[in-house]
Amino acid sequence: MAVDTVTLPADEAAIAEAARRIGAGECVAVPTETVYGLAADATNGEAVARIYEAKARPGFNPLIVHVPDIETAKRIAGFKSETDRLAQRYWPGPLTLVLPHRDDSGIASLVTAGLNTIALRVPAHPVMRALLEAAGVPLAAPSANASGRISPTRADHVAASLGGKIGLILDGGASEGGIESTIISHDLRLLRPGPITPSRIKQETGLTITQAQGGAVEAPGQLASHYAPAKPLRLEAMAAEASEWLIGFGPVEGDASLSRSGDLVEAAANLFARLHEAEASDRPRIAVAPVPDTGLGAAINDRLRRAAAPR
Ligand code: AMP
Ligand code: MG
Repeated sequence: MAVDTVTLPADEAAIAEAARRIGAGECVAVPTETVYGLAADATNGEAVARIYEAKARPGFNPLIVHVPDIETAKRIAGFKSETDRLAQRYWPGPLTLVLPHRDDSGIASLVTAGLNTIALRVPAHPVMRALLEAAGVPLAAPSANASGRISPTRADHVAASLGGKIGLILDGGASEGGIESTIISHDLRLLRPGPITPSRIKQETGLTITQAQGGAVEAPGQLASHYAPAKPLRLEAMAAEASEWLIGFGPVEGDASLSRSGDLVEAAANLFARLHEAEASDRPRIAVAPVPDTGLGAAINDRLRRAAAPR
């Protein structure tokens, strides 16, 4: 499924082309002040699924959503006075806040991997800001590298890692920062260290950011308590047994389906909504039809196996 990857200097025409592709549900590589990001329309679940497909990530992690300004952020998440103070002081810039997610935000559930919190940032890089304006939607954007490879700070790093997987790379020169954004939670804990340090925040705002004991921070992938439904879940189900809500795929119909046509992009986009729906149903157990382990199917199965593991 190789595609032609073009790298364009990030001028006005290239940004317009990138926005057109975002509108069509593609993902596009774009420079930010931290590292290059792989951006897609955060309100379009299938577009977000294509980020995972391009990166070949073995599982789903919640993604950071980039917005143009604080007003847009407030339509998506809840703030309190302390997080508002952080946003006022450090946005635009390399600070991500993990906040309570509003139900009516319009953000696809794959972005938050089913969690009820959302990671938001207002980026400072002029190219990313221009793309946000031209696209007119919030952009989900993890680092633009294949899973397990180091984060890219130049367009040619992106090309080396994702060439043949994505259609367009906007070249805006080297990312100045090179270090991923600092992540702080709603309760002012440091979730990931980064360019904006707790001591600087203390000095500039008076706010105390709590660090993990001994200054150690957990590995990023373990930060989010991963969403899993609070009901037993059976995998590889060809039919529902008594008292089961069956999530179908392809020929296995079920009470609801990840994708009737057996499309893995559609299935990834629907995964968390289907799990929430199953959890909310009046049946005490959940069963899920087999999903092939190829491409995005591997990430879907990874998440389903975690959800099925006894806790
Ligand atoms: P990246 O986009 O690759 O820079 O990584 C995003 C980081 O944000 C990961 O470390 C995630 O675990 C973290 N993250 C995103 N959303 C949430 C959330 N809702 N709760 C906790 N951590 C989050
Ligand atoms: Mg990364």
